[in-house]
Amino acid sequence: MEGDFREPLKRAEEALRAREFDFQLIVDSIPAPVAVITPTGEVETLNQPCLEYFGKTLEELKGWSSSDPVHPEDLPHVIEVLTHALETGQTYEVESRHRRFDGIYRWFHVRGFPLKDTEGRILRWCVLLTDIDDRKRAEAQLAGEKRLLEMVASGGQLRDLLIALCRFVEDTAADCKCGIYLIDWSGPTFHTGAAPSMPATFNDALDGLTVEASAGPCALAALTRSQVIAEDLESDLHWQQSLIRPLALGHGLRAQWSTPICSRDGSVLGTFAVFQHGPAIPSQIQQDLIAQVTHIASIAIERASNEEALRRSAAFLAQAQQLSRTGSFSWRVGTDEITWSAELYRIYEFEPGATITLEVIRTRVHPEDLTLYEMMIEQARNGADDFEWQYRLLMPDQSIKYMHAVAQATRDSGGRLEYIAAVRDVTARRLSDEALDRARSEFARVARVMSLGALTASIAHEVNQPLSGIITNASTCMRMLDAEPPNVDGARETAKRTIRDGRRAADVITRLRALFTNKDAAMDLVDLNEATREVIALSRSELERNRVTTRTELADELPPVTGDRVQLQQVILNLLRNGSDAMSHVDDRHRELLFRTEVEEGDRVRLSVQDAGIGFQPQSLDRLFQTFYTTKEEGMGIGLAVSHSIIENHSGRMWATPNDGPGVTFSFSIPCVVDGKPDVEGF
Ligand code: ADP
Repeated sequence: MEGDFREPLKRAEEALRAREFDFQLIVDSIPAPVAVITPTGEVETLNQPCLEYFGKTLEELKGWSSSDPVHPEDLPHVIEVLTHALETGQTYEVESRHRRFDGIYRWFHVRGFPLKDTEGRILRWCVLLTDIDDRKRAEAQLAGEKRLLEMVASGGQLRDLLIALCRFVEDTAADCKCGIYLIDWSGPTFHTGAAPSMPATFNDALDGLTVEASAGPCALAALTRSQVIAEDLESDLHWQQSLIRPLALGHGLRAQWSTPICSRDGSVLGTFAVFQHGPAIPSQIQQDLIAQVTHIASIAIERASNEEALRRSAAFLAQAQQLSRTGSFSWRVGTDEITWSAELYRIYEFEPGATITLEVIRTRVHPEDLTLYEMMIEQARNGADDFEWQYRLLMPDQSIKYMHAVAQATRDSGGRLEYIAAVRDVTARRLSDEALDRARSEFARVARVMSLGALTASIAHEVNQPLSGIITNASTCMRMLDAEPPNVDGARETAKRTIRDGRRAADVITRLRALFTNKDAAMDLVDLNEATREVIALSRSELERNRVTTRTELADELPPVTGDRVQLQQVILNLLRNGSDAMSHVDDRHRELLFRTEVEEGDRVRLSVQDAGIGFQPQSLDRLFQTFYTTKEEGMGIGLAVSHSIIENHSGRMWATPNDGPGVTFSFSIPCVVDGKPDVEGF
């Protein structure tokens, strides 16, 4: 009987042993570290890769929870997770660092799962360790890089960022010290950008060091734009004479790896140096890290210097705007967003930084210029043309400022319309112009009165003599005829003298008339387009003062006319002034003068000046060209009369027509030169 039950038991034991042997075989054949533990948590067996990784015996590793195979920082968590799994019988996972045979900790993903018998009882726990150190490092590096790039993007201090870069490398690649050295190429000299772990004695000695090949690896890297690896500063022959050698060795540093930090255009901004306490060359991981850091450093340094340049140019611009009393603004038409320069805030006397809207600007525009302001905005919204505008501001203290704005229409990348404008405060210039103008017109008035007075005096003088002769002679003649007997011969003689004096008076009048007729006009070939442009240019400041804009529609290839250039320009100037005068009280429309030239049938050319002024009554039409007809307080009423006679002297014709809209058009037409020959008889 004994044999009866012993036999199956033995077979069962053998089967179990065989299964355990199989199990051991399976565990051993897994190429990753595997531990088998009992349901109570003791280590039962470890496969070969596991023993090799830890470099310890099974016995030593049985006491893992009280020695160092698990990183001390991770141990409490690992124990907690395992205890919980043993209690619940649930598969568990944990990430922890484990100490390799050479003392280096690597990250593992640990997965423990229970092995159960057919009745569901846990026989063993199989624990699989997967090395995830590379992934962990990559993740950490990525997170670090992200943090650093965020620092760059948020525009913090360059120094803080460079310090963070050094620390990032020091934390990631253990046992090294880092420094970032910036180069001022005007020296060229080194300046410590950041070297947070290097002693001050080292940094101070490097500051201001000349960038020359003999200085050390950083200088050589900067000059050759390539990485320089000094494996051992003590023994490498290359560095025996270098300035850096005694300094580094004095601080216990043997290896130095220097990498240039290059800008996008290839210029060297500085160098990144990694120091090691022992002789060493960088591993691939370290090289990747160096490449990553120098790249971020180059972005940060370049950005900082761009920002500095931008700040400086903004400061220059602000200063220039202040000096020239010119402000600038941009106006995004679609959204009505307005960006206002500091100088413009000052000119408009707005609180610095106050939000500017079209409505806010409107509060400063002079009431008389408001209609124009609205028209200008309307036009700018509809068209995309550059515009120029002169207007006045009425300040809170009731003072007036004169402004001159020039705006340019642009489109952004999305095709949206935006105006960029320069606004100049021309008040000072305007006031001095006005003073000058007042002085000038006063002078002109005095000169006119004086010349009229002188003319009258000379006429009186010239005519008076023969007149008094006539009167004397006539009285003598009367006396002689009244005598008894009448002295007829004497009377005839005095009558002759009377006739002589009468002729003298007539001569004086003839001479005066000759003075006023243009017998001696100079005859040249005159291009009326050019003459018109010249008159406009000469009147520029007068027009600006009256806020009159000019437009020209000058015919191409206009044939020249023969005439007196100066006189013809006097006519054009007179028409320009009359037009400008006629618009001086116009505020509800553009004060625009249009100059047009065209070829007329019959080989004549015509010039017309169209204004948008007050116009005239139809009944005045006949009187416009009469001498001394004027409706102006200061007028003389001779401008149009003289112009008319000048044009007639050029065999031309002059007339005025009311416009369809407001204002008048004055025109003259004169014969032109055909094929180089004047088409004018008698000229
Ligand atoms: P003045 O300008 O000294 O008055 P003018 O002979 O040049 O002398 O002009 C005579 C008059 O003709 C003006 O006073 C004015 O009434 C009228 N006149 C001239 N030009 C215009 C114009 N562009 N629009 C309306 N009226 C005008």
